[in-house]
Amino acid sequence: MSAGRPREVVLIGAGHAHVHVLEDFAAHPVPGSRVKVVADTPIAVYSGMVPGLVAGQYRPRDLEIDVRALARRARADVIIARATGIDTSNSRITLQDQPPVHYDIACFDIGSTVVGLDLPGIREHALPTRPIGLFARRVDEIVERARRHDQDTPFQVVVIGGGAGGVELAFTLQRRLASEGNGWVDVALLEKGSRILFGYPESLVRRVYRRAEARGIRIRCNRQVVAAEKEAVTLGDGERLPCQALIWVTGAVSEPIFTESGLPTDDRGFVRIRSTLQVEDHDDLFAVGDCATLIDYPQTPKAGVYAVRQGPIVSDNIRALLTGAPLRPYKPQSDFLTLLNLGDGTALGTKWGRSMEGAWVMKLKDFLDRRFMRRFQVAESGGP
Ligand SMILES: Cc1cc2nc3c(=O)[nH]c(=O)nc-3n(C[C@H](O)[C@H](O)[C@H](O)COP(=O)(O)OP(=O)(O)OC[C@H]3O[C@@H](n4cnc5c(N)ncnc54)[C@H](O)[C@@H]3O)c2cc1C
Repeated sequence: MSAGRPREVVLIGAGHAHVHVLEDFAAHPVPGSRVKVVADTPIAVYSGMVPGLVAGQYRPRDLEIDVRALARRARADVIIARATGIDTSNSRITLQDQPPVHYDIACFDIGSTVVGLDLPGIREHALPTRPIGLFARRVDEIVERARRHDQDTPFQVVVIGGGAGGVELAFTLQRRLASEGNGWVDVALLEKGSRILFGYPESLVRRVYRRAEARGIRIRCNRQVVAAEKEAVTLGDGERLPCQALIWVTGAVSEPIFTESGLPTDDRGFVRIRSTLQVEDHDDLFAVGDCATLIDYPQTPKAGVYAVRQGPIVSDNIRALLTGAPLRPYKPQSDFLTLLNLGDGTALGTKWGRSMEGAWVMKLKDFLDRRFMRRFQVAESGGP
């Protein structure tokens, strides 16, 4: 550790774990260090509440975290720019349209993107859930389109991807469009695998099917989209489905930043990390959340709950590296509580192989989500 110059800690992305690091460094600054945050947007959007926003249950500000305000409390500098590469030989992060930034320690919490955006017509005609902030802003366009839609035909929505996010968006969008659109909405959820909610208990899947049937949402498995055009998608078997809104919620893949920078990655481009959350072979680089894959637990789902749990560990380990203390290992929990907002005041939930549903499950989800947000929504004055 060189005396004199402060040690530069650069946090790239204001994801679920980094908001904790900022909170922690605000409360317990490390003398002789300086924190910088590189974020591609000054407002971070909490994805867990996005389905509720889609349903019309929340306002945009309910799920927004002001990165600058949070950083100010930690006396951290903020650079609003997209990180484009990691120059490990010169310890620099390269940025889009801005000079590179030097690091002594860098940590990535930049999330993931959705797979399949390069299929013909998808970027032009589908609304992907990543970046999540853009998705949240563009949902109103769909509502507006549905309002203007001809009264004699249903407004057809196709949601691609039968994971937890896809299920929530099919239900919440249907609810919103039924109340705010032209009154006639037809929602289909398509999954390329043989079942929806892969990895989740059968009892949860059965509940989803029951609720979908009651709400007129069609769920179709073994359907792979190969292309999209204006107001239609084409499936692998040649079938063409008309749709006025196409929502893209396919599985997570990494942006190419790690592969292009020559860092060790898995087959989806996520950077490989050790149990200390340090990148394989790079002690001065950490990575957390969706963008990182644990070498010892490669099957860990890409879910915000893991990023949240990694927050305190990565914060402690950055601190330990700065002060020369030992680093502690992270072990992912074997299961986590999943709560799916159905947009009608009820939710489905699952934990430890059991499932549940009802208004109380939605109340629990709302309570947990709002509690998370209260921690990180910092008033402009800089107070908590
Ligand atoms: C509709 C929907 C609902 C979901 N609901 C849940 C849920 O209820 N529970 C759950 O556990 N998971 C949920 N997920 C999954 C969850 O969104 C992700 O697992 C979680 O966001 C990952 O957190 P993260 O901290 O890794 O990244 P993110 O939360 O994605 O944060 C990354 C941040 O980095 C920024 N960034 C990205 N690239 C760059 C770059 N190159 N330079 C600078 N900044 C960058 C982004 O703008 C973003 O602010 C949901 C996903 C969707 C789509």
